Amino acid sequence: MDIININDNSNNLYYIGGIVRDEILGLNSFDIDITYVGNAIEYCSKFGEVIQKNPDFGTVRVNVNGKIVDFASTRSESYPKKGHLPVVEKIGCSLKEDVLRRDFTINALAKNVSTGEIIDYTGGLEDLRNKKLRVLHDESFIDDPTRIIRGLKFSVRFGFDLEEHTKKLQDEYLADINYDMSYKRLKKELIETFNLNSQKAFEKFINEKIYKLVTPKDVELPKVNIEELVNKYVLSSGKFNNFQFCIWLVYVGVLGDLCRLPLTKTEQKILDDVPKFEPETDFEIYKMFENIHIESILLYAILKNERIARHYLDNLRQIKTETNGNDLKNLGIPPSPKYQEIFNEILKEKLKNPNMTKKNEIDFLRLKFNV
Ligand code: ATP
Repeated sequence: MDIININDNSNNLYYIGGIVRDEILGLNSFDIDITYVGNAIEYCSKFGEVIQKNPDFGTVRVNVNGKIVDFASTRSESYPKKGHLPVVEKIGCSLKEDVLRRDFTINALAKNVSTGEIIDYTGGLEDLRNKKLRVLHDESFIDDPTRIIRGLKFSVRFGFDLEEHTKKLQDEYLADINYDMSYKRLKKELIETFNLNSQKAFEKFINEKIYKLVTPKDVELPKVNIEELVNKYVLSSGKFNNFQFCIWLVYVGVLGDLCRLPLTKTEQKILDDVPKFEPETDFEIYKMFENIHIESILLYAILKNERIARHYLDNLRQIKTETNGNDLKNLGIPPSPKYQEIFNEILKEKLKNPNMTKKNEIDFLRLKFNV
């Protein structure tokens, strides 16, 4: 892992967390986390141009030979308000104290930047070998329940299981939640987890009652395979990318009670727009889904009627009428609310006969409306 080229004569710089874990697993890592045993802001200003610093957390962004790298000072933390953001206790603590504030042993490994030596204070290497997720102490989920979702994410990404005692701690926490926690952080982890589009993650989420973090209501596993729905109607269509499309909300929206999560206006609209009734004709189905987000349609498939939603997505959604207001004007029909009625009649006909050309549409409306 020769990611940065720093002449570290302090011998106190360590790659830490996910990047060390991913290298051992043979995976690419997205972020480079480097920690300095001591005060990183003071240390880094000696060998690079400081671009940004946050003295409260001891973090600093530096330009090292043209490469932007984030450094953190070793720090210890405590949770005076359980479930909420920790407070920094000490900046510049020992490496051991720094790793002990972390979530799982596999994320608590450090690698010396100069020597390449792996430092493993918590048994992370063995847990990586045994594919186990183990918290570092019994209060871990009480301090920070978002770690339960992080565990779910890692279990799906790497195919790991919770180690037995960690599972017991998780079950105990889930059986007695007080719902006083940072839902902003929880939402961030839910997004990362369910944007992976994994039915397996969702089954664990429901079956292991992890969903209780979001709602105290009882929820059952829906029969519909959400991963397949999202693959078929969103990802394989090539029309959406993950940023435009809220994959996570198609999963988490199933819970029906997201009032604790800080939702954006668009996310709330997706939930509010899920239709409540079951239309009968193709025209009614078309009109019901025509102007709502695909996420709302998929939630309807999961929660209400899969057949109707699939019928719309497979057979109806691509049907579009071609006649427009100018065509009606040219036929001598003066603009009025009647236009909508006419468009609806053309649509009803086209849903029965999707091969209609624009000429067929005009012929049809001439006959129907006597123009
Ligand atoms: P990813 O590949 O998803 O980025 P990561 O392990 O790098 O995985 P980050 O969210 O970037 O995940 O966190 C970086 C490191 O910070 C983790 O490896 C872990 O050591 C620590 N960490 C992150 N979130 C928590 C948390 N909620 N509680 C304790 N430690 C955490």
